[in-house]
Amino acid sequence: MRALIPLIQPTKIFKGKDYHEVLRHEMDAGKIPISLGKSCPVKCEFCYEIDHSYRETLEPPKTTQEDWEYILDYINKKPTDPLQFWCLGGNEYMEWTDLFLHPQAMEWVEDFLKFTDKNITFFTVGFVHVPKIHQLAAQYPGRINFELSVITLGEYRQKLMPHAPAVKHLLKVLDGPAVSSANFYALDAHTMSEDAVAISRVNQKCVLWMGCLTPVRGLKEETVALMRQGRKYLPQEAERVYDTGLPNTTTIHTEAYITAFLNRKRIVSMFDSLELEKKDTVVMAGSVCKILTMYRKNRARFFYVPNATLGGDSDCTVLLTFDDIARRLTNEKILHIPKCVMQSGRGPYRDIAGVTLEEFTRKTGVKVKVLHKVDTRFANKQLYRHGYLKNYVEDYLRNPLMQTYEALATPA
Ligand code: SF4
Repeated sequence: MRALIPLIQPTKIFKGKDYHEVLRHEMDAGKIPISLGKSCPVKCEFCYEIDHSYRETLEPPKTTQEDWEYILDYINKKPTDPLQFWCLGGNEYMEWTDLFLHPQAMEWVEDFLKFTDKNITFFTVGFVHVPKIHQLAAQYPGRINFELSVITLGEYRQKLMPHAPAVKHLLKVLDGPAVSSANFYALDAHTMSEDAVAISRVNQKCVLWMGCLTPVRGLKEETVALMRQGRKYLPQEAERVYDTGLPNTTTIHTEAYITAFLNRKRIVSMFDSLELEKKDTVVMAGSVCKILTMYRKNRARFFYVPNATLGGDSDCTVLLTFDDIARRLTNEKILHIPKCVMQSGRGPYRDIAGVTLEEFTRKTGVKVKVLHKVDTRFANKQLYRHGYLKNYVEDYLRNPLMQTYEALATPA
């Protein structure tokens, strides 16, 4: 799939700038900007960064000891918030890579814990040194949040992530105090459910974070087909895990239509509180549009916008871009847009591509009324509130309304 040519281009922010500018941008957003100096060599088939052309990135050279000292010093000058976890990975202005492939990563994690009083969160497909990571977790309790991307332990592992660590190594990473949560997915019958049992056997404390992988732009067709197959098997896989009654906390987070359904009452009450009129045009992604069409038909003009920038099966209002919205315009003069669309990591009133609200209105001539109540805080709260396996099985799969909901056509 080719990259989408945007109708609205964001203003470039790094043109002619030194790489320290990128480091500072990341650190100001709570990231620890270690760089491998190249694209991620793990080359997972499902990687969401295969096509990240929608946002401007600038890759600093491979982090040196001198860079690291600069990073540590800069972070140390920031005030400490006991609730904040500084993030190693998941960068905004740099390409995502598995940072534990940097030969000094383990050493620098230890430095961070030793020389700052701040907390750290990181994700990796498992490239950690086993005794060391467990030792650090035991030595610095409560300061490490380690999200292990297991993805799958079964036969699809070789196909999806041939260069990732072996299952044997992952089980050693799981066996001890280090891992806070392990994420893995349904791909077929007896995939997610068997992984849940295998992981719980070695670690009964880590959160089991399950669900489906959502296809996005840039993935191979066969990978997309496998992800969609996983979605088909999710209900039976989830029932199996539910029936096993594992001691771990079990969550399912990844499917937008399920989250929207489980939070339908809150979505509807939020909509009512906005006091919109019938003629008002409100921007939203597919699942929210379905819920409001079910419960509040004709109470406003629901302006469905597909996530064209991210592509694939993305369905999320938070991740809509101004470009996505511009593509759907016909003769609208005024739009009501949820604030969460313009609260991305790129800064206030910017979408995930970095386009500002002002750039959108200037380019399209459309007047925008921002729905301030529908912010990322509201969206995230809904995401986590009913994100447990128990909610999915009892309140979604076993809810008679679910079939009517799933049979409703996706908005055109
Ligand atoms: S390890 Fe992470 S960043 Fe690297 S290819 Fe795999 S999913 Fe992408």
